[in-house]
Amino acid sequence: MALDEGLKNELQKQGVFVTTWDQLVNWGRSNSIWPLQFGLACCAIEMIATAASRYDIARFGSEIFRASPRQADLIIVAGTVTKKMAPQVVRLYNQMAEPKYVISMGACATSGGPFHTGYNVLKGIDRYIPVDVYIPGCPPTPQALLEGLMRLQERIKSRSMGQEVGPKQGEYPIPEFGKSGLEPRYNPDVFQPKKPWADPPAQPAPKPAAPSPSST
Ligand code: SF4
Repeated sequence: MALDEGLKNELQKQGVFVTTWDQLVNWGRSNSIWPLQFGLACCAIEMIATAASRYDIARFGSEIFRASPRQADLIIVAGTVTKKMAPQVVRLYNQMAEPKYVISMGACATSGGPFHTGYNVLKGIDRYIPVDVYIPGCPPTPQALLEGLMRLQERIKSRSMGQEVGPKQGEYPIPEFGKSGLEPRYNPDVFQPKKPWADPPAQPAPKPAAPSPSST
């Protein structure tokens, strides 16, 4: 239930602070996001710089990069995701505490980036796990990662408790190597590619030929 802003302001002038359970929990969650200590390629260097003193990610309560996925609720996919590494990324995501979030950092994690034509490179981690925030760039700067973190905080603040454990949470199938790369090629629960072409209209089934009069 939304609070009446006028009443809320009036009460605050009297020294009474009121809030909702959603706002209180989301305030705590959004200011204590613990990222997984995990990087894949050059974007991870920018992620490490974000945690250093110059950019100081501690201002957002996210300086505790956890070595165990059990103690992390954010995975920053920072770098090129090879098809060899993709199953391990999904496995780490599955092991994280809920509610959990994903930031796709850089062109490689989002689409394969400069290596998108490589036979060994995944064309986006969002084929297997749900991404909350995409950060463009090659590499994105530490400022861009902080901007992405603030966008994630806004998303968390806009959710209500009932929405947190939804269909986008939980464990996801881990792809395996098949005859021609990873199988399945993507998880249809999280990735629905748009076809760049229009399907041709369905053709009516041909009518059976009428028997000729001479055959009777
Ligand atoms: S997006 Fe650029 S900087 Fe980031 S991992 Fe790919 S090549 Fe490296």
